[in-house]
Amino acid sequence: MAEPKPVSPETRNFLLSVGTGTLDWCMQCGFCTAVCPWRLAGGRLGTYFNIRRIQRLAQLGVEGFDDEEALFACTTCALCEAHCPRRVEIVANIRALRGILVEAGFVPQHLDPIISSLYANGNPWSGPRARRLDWARDLRLPRFERDTEYLLFVCCTSCYDPRSQRIARSVVRLLDSAGVSFGVIGTEESCCGDVADKVGAGEAFRQLALSNIRLFQSKGVRRIVTTSPHCFVAFRDRYPALGGEFEVFHYTEVLLERVRHGALGFARRLSERVAYHDPCYLGRHGGVFDAPRELLGVVLTAPLVELAWVREVSHCCGSGGGRLWAETPKGQRLGELRVSDALARGARVLTTACPYCVMTLEADCFGLGQQENLQILELGELLASCCI
Ligand code: SF4
Ligand code: SF4
Repeated sequence: MAEPKPVSPETRNFLLSVGTGTLDWCMQCGFCTAVCPWRLAGGRLGTYFNIRRIQRLAQLGVEGFDDEEALFACTTCALCEAHCPRRVEIVANIRALRGILVEAGFVPQHLDPIISSLYANGNPWSGPRARRLDWARDLRLPRFERDTEYLLFVCCTSCYDPRSQRIARSVVRLLDSAGVSFGVIGTEESCCGDVADKVGAGEAFRQLALSNIRLFQSKGVRRIVTTSPHCFVAFRDRYPALGGEFEVFHYTEVLLERVRHGALGFARRLSERVAYHDPCYLGRHGGVFDAPRELLGVVLTAPLVELAWVREVSHCCGSGGGRLWAETPKGQRLGELRVSDALARGARVLTTACPYCVMTLEADCFGLGQQENLQILELGELLASCCI
């Protein structure tokens, strides 16, 4: 029989002091573990990762809450929070617990180069700063000036990843067609810091955020439109505490407003069966569920295909909270569940509104050998293909 572990009030008090303030609200009902999408994925994480247990160990200050494999399994999708009867801030607790390990130098192997690159290059992809605008090489891209309405902030992934660059280019085409006053800053920008924040690299996040806040303030930025929901939530929810108060929008919100005012129209409509995957950070974290659906309603001739888990209880693609860089064995990936669900409902296109989701769902669709049967498209790409 395993030896009982000693309860440590000192450890418990330390954990509470570093930001796990809502741990005490937890009554150990286990809803969070029951609804966690890892339960459906099967494999090792499906049984090994137990968010209720992590929180119980931390509540008591008992050793084991710092189990690296379990702690860094969470995608920070917040589905558990949506079900928690005590409104425990589970994602904030995970972030704080991870922070203890990361700040002590115990960085998981897959995150080491990511955090190093954030410090060295201001992005997680080891991309040179000077090439941050390469995605726009042949575009007529306006620079942000003091009288520009929106700063267009392009996610690092869409700056450096060739597949993802198509997303940024599509969003620029749409904003342009809609007559939006927007401009970019470019090479002086740094990553929004979402990944640093969620993996517990608090100092990296603080440095990235302060650098952006100073830059945006010096340029006179008031409104920001983002291509990624992760930047959207980081700017809106995390920057104000560091002095960065901006009006922040995801591009789907800006486009929908233009469609409603007749400033953006589409020449072509699509007859394919299209399903929409709610990105966790646009939906649950960001509160934007309707704008993407309303935009799809304008260009689709058939009703939108809704997946089994949608809107507030949507399931995660598996790439948030630093998991984009983690290796999950084939057959146990969360994105595979979304792809299989879309296929089972007869969809031919699975669209979403997040660069991370696109990257993950496309890889998992390919991994399942279904790339001929299901196309993964970012919503901006789909809408731009219907433009005049
Ligand atoms: S659902 Fe909430 S109260 Fe229940 S075990 Fe999870 S964190 Fe605790
Ligand atoms: S945030 Fe998502 S992945 Fe993490 S424990 Fe909650 S439901 Fe599971």
